[in-house]
Amino acid sequence: MNKGFVYLVGAGPGRADLITVRGAEVLKTADCVISDKLANPALLKFARADAEIIHVPKRIGAGSFTQQEINNLLIEKASNGKTVVRLKGGDPCIFGRGAEEAALLAEAGIDFEIVPGVTAAIAAAEYAGVLLTDRKYSSQVVFVTGREADSKVNSNIDWHLLAKFSGTIVFYMAMGSLDFIVEQLIKNGMAEEMPTAVIADATLPTQRTVRTSLRQLSEKCKQEKIEPPAIVVVGVAADSNTKLNWFMKKPLFGRNIVVTRDVPGNAGFAAKIIKHSGNPIEFTTIKLKPLTGSNRFLRALAKIAEYDWIIFTSVNGVTICFDYLQSLEKDGRVFGSAKIAAIGSETASRLDEFGIKADFVPTVFTSNELGKQLIGFANLQGKKILLLRSQLASNELGELLEQAGAKVDDIAVYTAVTEKSECKWLKEKISAGQIDWLTFASPSSVKGFFAQIQSDLVNSSNVKVASIGPVTSEQLKNLGVRVDVTAREHTTDGLLAAIEGTYE
Ligand code: SAH
Repeated sequence: MNKGFVYLVGAGPGRADLITVRGAEVLKTADCVISDKLANPALLKFARADAEIIHVPKRIGAGSFTQQEINNLLIEKASNGKTVVRLKGGDPCIFGRGAEEAALLAEAGIDFEIVPGVTAAIAAAEYAGVLLTDRKYSSQVVFVTGREADSKVNSNIDWHLLAKFSGTIVFYMAMGSLDFIVEQLIKNGMAEEMPTAVIADATLPTQRTVRTSLRQLSEKCKQEKIEPPAIVVVGVAADSNTKLNWFMKKPLFGRNIVVTRDVPGNAGFAAKIIKHSGNPIEFTTIKLKPLTGSNRFLRALAKIAEYDWIIFTSVNGVTICFDYLQSLEKDGRVFGSAKIAAIGSETASRLDEFGIKADFVPTVFTSNELGKQLIGFANLQGKKILLLRSQLASNELGELLEQAGAKVDDIAVYTAVTEKSECKWLKEKISAGQIDWLTFASPSSVKGFFAQIQSDLVNSSNVKVASIGPVTSEQLKNLGVRVDVTAREHTTDGLLAAIEGTYE
């Protein structure tokens, strides 16, 4: 049997893309991933589809694991010859019991590698603009666990030293023992006015910060209902210029933005919203059904190289066609010398992922503009054109091209059917004014959404509605829904830019 191997990997502090390149790389190789609660679940997208995923939260109650059980799992999986990734929040060995796990593996003769991660103290401080070191006020930093303060007896924490420490002190796991920490620091001589900062949910769209004096620390956190995970910074560094709080100043920071597409579409859009510091809420409205098994499509495919132009009017159309080609072990060479047009930049870049450079992309990303501009770009008289698109698309594009003398085959490669989601929660949030935006990226998403949620609820609340383009806005208006912004560039990036624009 193969000898097993364990990677102790730091997942980073919250945001999935703060994992190291090495961390992501080894995740791809794992047979088994054993993941902590603080590791962002989005990181599991790096894991192989057939990897075994084991979540090992350490809270109390059903489904929780003791350290001993986790140790046993590590040894069991590795002894069975598996490549195991032990994914831990932040850095694996900063208060993460990575040291114990490494010692256990060494003892058992199992090979391992430690992949460092960005620890919460550093990430929290930088995402709150509280900089831990500065030549002017802090030349030393100390990381302290608040958990030991809890037990009080047998604590290794030297309160006397900390109270006199002229630098920055960062407490992890301190929320349960704030009163005790403050009491010890003051009792041992630290000034009651010493600046402090608390950063909860650091690097996530739900990040919150409190800045106050040491004396008021505990009270302020209670008032503001600050919950773990949180980092507490004590020292002059905590009083840094509030202008440095770059993350929470971003226009979409903390905005609750509902995405309303199919599951994969929502995941892609949600990842973009997170990059803009917003808080995505995924609400599934539709499911895409490939129609690549239809006779019409198969007939077109058999003579596909005879077409002069092949036109894709959505990312989904490209993905579904290429998924089908790949299932036949074929690739873009089936298009022969046909020219390829894409409705917009996102569709063109999906084609690019499959090795196809679009020959034509209009300057405005609608079907109508695609038709009009293509007619200006190429002589279509007598040319054979294949449209590969949604069954729900309007006839307009095909008619325009036919008027220009082309012979058009308009073939549906997919359709969208309404998919029901759990909507009670969302309705309550909308009514309570806790949702900032509803976003719509296609007319079928509009239909799917309003089949589940009444337009009156939306119109009478303060939620804003953003649409990707004129066709989607038209659909919203037809259903009597107020549209607050329509993207100028008809892509999901354009949609986010339009929302950001409302905060300028
Ligand atoms: N190994 C981890 C720390 C584990 S101890 C690391 O290197 O970051 C768990 C503590 O980490 C929490 O109680 C909290 O103090 C801190 N923490 C983890 N993630 C955090 C986050 N996103 N925001 C603030 N604090 C966080």
